[in-house]
Amino acid sequence: MKVHIVTLGCSKNTVDSETLAGHLTANQLQLAASIEEADTLVINTCGFIDQAKEESVQTILEAAELKRQGSIQKLVVAGCLSERYGDDLRSEIPEVDQFFGTEAYEHIIKAISPDLKYALLGERIISTPSHYAYLKISEGCDHPCSFCAIPLMRGKHRSIPEETLVTAAQQLVSQGVRELVLVAQDLTYYGRDTYGERKLSNLVQRLADESGAEWIRLMYAYPSKFPLDVLSVIRNNENVCSYLDMPLQHASSEVLKNMRRGITRRTTEELIDRIRQDVPDIALRSTFIVGYPSETESDVDELAEFIEQQKFDRLGVFTYSQEDDTYAYILGDPISSEVKEARRQRIMDVQRDISYTKNQTKVGSVQRVLIEEDLNGEYRGRTESDAPEVDNEIYVRAERALTVGSFVDVLVDDAIEFDLFGSSV
Ligand code: SF4
Repeated sequence: MKVHIVTLGCSKNTVDSETLAGHLTANQLQLAASIEEADTLVINTCGFIDQAKEESVQTILEAAELKRQGSIQKLVVAGCLSERYGDDLRSEIPEVDQFFGTEAYEHIIKAISPDLKYALLGERIISTPSHYAYLKISEGCDHPCSFCAIPLMRGKHRSIPEETLVTAAQQLVSQGVRELVLVAQDLTYYGRDTYGERKLSNLVQRLADESGAEWIRLMYAYPSKFPLDVLSVIRNNENVCSYLDMPLQHASSEVLKNMRRGITRRTTEELIDRIRQDVPDIALRSTFIVGYPSETESDVDELAEFIEQQKFDRLGVFTYSQEDDTYAYILGDPISSEVKEARRQRIMDVQRDISYTKNQTKVGSVQRVLIEEDLNGEYRGRTESDAPEVDNEIYVRAERALTVGSFVDVLVDDAIEFDLFGSSV
């Protein structure tokens, strides 16, 4: 039996697929590198927003066709979309053998090979390039954000014990991982459930001391009640990146209130000031939503002005997607997709200029770069200010061959909006 896993959606889903891959191999099932080599397909779906749902459904339909043609024998669907819409999908796509929700490792293995005695032995098999890996520190979310369906799919917040995470991090580093990217729905809530208090700073300090990782990066920090003690851990540890991803979603206090984010524009600004004061060289990434049902043109003006004022190092903008069973669902979806897209473009245009100006200040500096890819003589890499998959890149010329996954010092000699260029020194 050869199993191929298709992973859709976010880095949290990547970790789930990697964990499943570990359990499959520990249970003597072989992994196939491609669909063509597989006789069983597991699709780990995403159900976050419209676009993600469409991609998941399309992928399932294509796999159903493969099963009809006899190219695969078994088709299993798991993950967020399946958790949320399993009943509908079951009746619409009968080619799928079984649907499961999230974290259903044991059930998936039994569905693939009913005679196997399931053993939860698997060491996670990472699917990212071998020099970095995501470390999921908790699952689920307790926040009541009005637009978000994630708590419906992923459940309440559950922290993974500190000891388990330190051991997992050490194992990843022993396999060659140099950068650990900490992910969760909300990193800052870590510890509230198991330890009765927020313990992110403790965890990051232990990972900095005990994991052996050279870069530790923090993604997805919810801004309200942000645990400020994390800032000194970022500042005082060389191997904790001066980087923070903090999705803010909006700047208008009215929209933030409607979104149930527990924060206003003023308190957001105070938090950003504090972060920059405590970690002066920090690269701040944020993401925003435009086209929320109550958003007016003046809210968009305010958001554009806020972005201009705050000058984030990295930024992403999503358009609002109306999701079943969320608090905001009853507000409808009154803003057309054209207007949403125009608002997204407007904010990204502001950010493009900011990013260009910031990148120009790096020309002439030497940056430590993690080499990601050999492009036939030239190399693509990332600086400490850039997370994998979502942030900027640096293109590196070198007189000697560089190893993918190694760190090199690069003299930056050119910059455009979202990329840097330079040569190794
Ligand atoms: S913090 Fe808000 S947006 Fe993020 S997963 Fe939780 S409910 Fe969704």
